[in-house]
Amino acid sequence: MTAPKEAAVTLTAAQTAIVAKALADAERYRRDTATAWCANCAAAQDGACPDHLAYLAPANAYRGLAAELARATNAAGRDVPAPRPASDLSRYPA
Ligand SMILES: [Zn+2]
Repeated sequence: MTAPKEAAVTLTAAQTAIVAKALADAERYRRDTATAWCANCAAAQDGACPDHLAYLAPANAYRGLAAELARATNAAGRDVPAPRPASDLSRYPA
């Protein structure tokens, strides 16, 4: 299987705002539902077990894409707010 080629996607300002909101919702969902940490997390030196760290990994990806969207749209003269700092949403840094 070959790697897919990078394809540019053009969104309207309204669509970009929806995507940014969806990414913020998805990130918050991941972080909020990861609050039921397990006994392995309590024992882990870095604060979370591998399973929970893997569960949070998409939240970091969502946040990164939201920031990228905000940068791109601000450069285009639109107004999409950058995501809030992840430390507001999680006990773990992004
Ligand atoms: Zn855990």
